[in-house]
Amino acid sequence: MITSVAMLAGAATAEESKLAQVLFNNVTIFDGKSRKLSPNMNVLVEANMIKTISKSSISAGEATVIDGEGRTLMPGMIENHAHLMLMGPSLPAMESMTTWEDFAIHGTKMAEMYLNQGFTTVRDAGGGNAGLQRAINSGMISGPRYYPSAAFIGGRGGHADFANYTAPIGESSNMSRLNMAVEADGRDEVLKVARNNFRMGASQLKVMQSGGVVSAFDPWQMDGRTSDEISAAVEVAEQYGTYVMAHSYKREAMVAALEAGVKSLEHGFMYDCKIGKLMEKKGAYITTNLTAFIPGLLDIPAVKNVPASFRKAKTAQLAFEDYLDNMRSCPAKRGFHTDCVGSVESCNKQIHHEQFLNGDFFDNHTALVAMTSVGGEIAAMTGDFMNPYPDGKLGVIEEGAYADILLIDGNPLEDLSVIGAHPKWFDAPTPPDSPVGIVLIMKDGVIHKNTL
Ligand SMILES: [Zn+2]
Repeated sequence: MITSVAMLAGAATAEESKLAQVLFNNVTIFDGKSRKLSPNMNVLVEANMIKTISKSSISAGEATVIDGEGRTLMPGMIENHAHLMLMGPSLPAMESMTTWEDFAIHGTKMAEMYLNQGFTTVRDAGGGNAGLQRAINSGMISGPRYYPSAAFIGGRGGHADFANYTAPIGESSNMSRLNMAVEADGRDEVLKVARNNFRMGASQLKVMQSGGVVSAFDPWQMDGRTSDEISAAVEVAEQYGTYVMAHSYKREAMVAALEAGVKSLEHGFMYDCKIGKLMEKKGAYITTNLTAFIPGLLDIPAVKNVPASFRKAKTAQLAFEDYLDNMRSCPAKRGFHTDCVGSVESCNKQIHHEQFLNGDFFDNHTALVAMTSVGGEIAAMTGDFMNPYPDGKLGVIEEGAYADILLIDGNPLEDLSVIGAHPKWFDAPTPPDSPVGIVLIMKDGVIHKNTL
């Protein structure tokens, strides 16, 4: 007997199989790339894809018609470095006082918040597995498209080591039992945990190469992975047709990562023009949390109240002071990166401040490109097999791209506050559930918010 997919799914009637259409009339397009907006345009969405973009009017009989009245239509934004499942206030608290329920509920709320802020895609830089993605994709909860990295891969005492001080070598931690962070030393262990991450739903891998500022055992200056260990992660990722992102601070760490085949440098605080050249040669990207460069960083309780972290933060800020000049004179393909671990509200504020800094340190166009088309290119590096959303481009307004669309009151190229950007961080007022300037949010062809 032949059983077709349609029979299994319950065959659709002719009526149901007609694809839903939404027509945006009279919009001004920011396509995710160009410095110039295109006014007086019409955009037809069919099912979950952008079907037609035209200056002349589009006739679509039964489409839902939205009159844009000249508003800006732009791609849904993309976050390239979040941790939806991680929650504050500290790494030890996460390890010892948190269960899977805390993480799941926090992740759900974070996903909801991101979509409400106009982010239709989030790449998770460690801690999230396939469960959250399943819940979002099935429509059980609302959230952005989700690219999890599963467990961070780090060495003993590295930036992915959440275990208690007295934990003996080899003893599993809460974070490793939940496959949120994993210790792997040597090539063989890296091969095994890398494969396990794909088994758990990762679309790309995350390797902790340098140390960090708020973690306990690791100087940020460390280049903590041997070339053997990084290469092992890259080998497995390439077997799956996807790539590795590496938490790298120091120049030497970045060079080692790129030489080993890493395609996405995370933080990359000691970026310089030589690294920019090497990145270009290797087809690599960088994503950096710009909040690391503001003096207020030293006032964060997790930094200020822990003498070792305070000292680390001070030396780090000194070492990182050339980043902005270097990135301005030798711009690289750079994605948007918030990297918040905290309450949903504090992360919401951090996103808005990160948006502001992107415009302030560079310019609004550079900020918007980082939040849209560059993010889409990074998502596409997951390749044909591992990309959870392989049917169209992300981060652009183009025919054939996924229908992830924002409609904006105002021009974000002139004023980023219309999409939420805020000059204050911790002392900013509680943000609204969704920026007032974003009047419509569509993800995957479905309208999530509409205040028109
Ligand atoms: Zn991170």
